[in-house]
Amino acid sequence: AAKGAGRNRFSRFSLALLDAMQQRIGLSNDLRDALREGQLAVHYQPIVELATGRVRKAEALLRWQHPGRGAVPPSHFVPLAEANGMIVEIGDWVLRCAADQVRRVMALGCSAFQIAVNVSPLQFRNDVGLCKRWLAYLAALGLPTCSVGIEITEGLLLDVSAELTETLRRFSAAGMQISLDDFGTGYSSLAYLTRFELDVLKIDRSFVHRIDSHAPDLALCEAIVAMAHKLGMTVVAEGVETARQRELLVAAGCDYGQGYLFAPPMTGPELEAGLRRASH
Ligand code: C2E
Ligand code: MG
Ligand code: MG
Ligand code: MG
Repeated sequence: AAKGAGRNRFSRFSLALLDAMQQRIGLSNDLRDALREGQLAVHYQPIVELATGRVRKAEALLRWQHPGRGAVPPSHFVPLAEANGMIVEIGDWVLRCAADQVRRVMALGCSAFQIAVNVSPLQFRNDVGLCKRWLAYLAALGLPTCSVGIEITEGLLLDVSAELTETLRRFSAAGMQISLDDFGTGYSSLAYLTRFELDVLKIDRSFVHRIDSHAPDLALCEAIVAMAHKLGMTVVAEGVETARQRELLVAAGCDYGQGYLFAPPMTGPELEAGLRRASH
């Protein structure tokens, strides 16, 4: 009987697995149509200069409105796009959206605005033309290279290929800001901070969200800010949700904040409307 029950459990398990795999393949196929059919969108989350409360930058975040399933989060579909190779095409599209958007924001009079895009490791790998293509797009719009930034994660730096180092160096040399995203999670290595030309450190939300209740997390944030400043980098705190967190970050000397306390990710026109209101 025990054997039978075990087999039963196993087949139920493998059916669930099969179902999950089929869903994954289905979504992955749907993603091929998503871009063409206008189901993807880029939203923008303001990044606020803590000392002045001014919105100086924004982060571009992908959204997918699936016709049958509704909103699919990027944590779900970006890995699918990486696996089926679509991330290169989608990543180029995000860059173009961000550049078009930053141009509209600058037209409002915010001359030094920057929009940062998230870049996946696979966009760098197998694509030596990425840097050239992106810089050409900005140049065609008459935008300075510093108006668009890129966010990379520590996972990307794990793979220290000559190709990656060279692409990052080219972006840097052209004047594009590079942010290290989700700092403190994953395979953090302090060696990355000096090996690559990084301009911005983004402290991961998991450290920020308890700084008002958990003293060691506050100490960690303070130390990260001090370290980043010594290395000539600026710091963005991710996931700022309360006024108390903002106060503690200001006291720690943190440069920028991003989070629901200030604003959620929003459409381009919403971003422009907010900036117009703020400047009046
Ligand atoms: P990320 O780059 O660390 O982006 C920040 C995430 O935190 C976003 O989630 C944002 O909506 C969320 N967030 C912002 N403020 C708060 C807050 O106060 N509280 C909480 N709980 N969350 C907050 P989202 O949009 O779901 O994106 C998740 C991840 O998906 C991103 O993390 C990024 O790694 C990836 N991603 C998004 N867009 C792209 C893209 O265009 N390309 C690539 N390669 N990855 C992307
Ligand atoms: Mg990011
Ligand atoms: Mg992040
Ligand atoms: Mg994060």
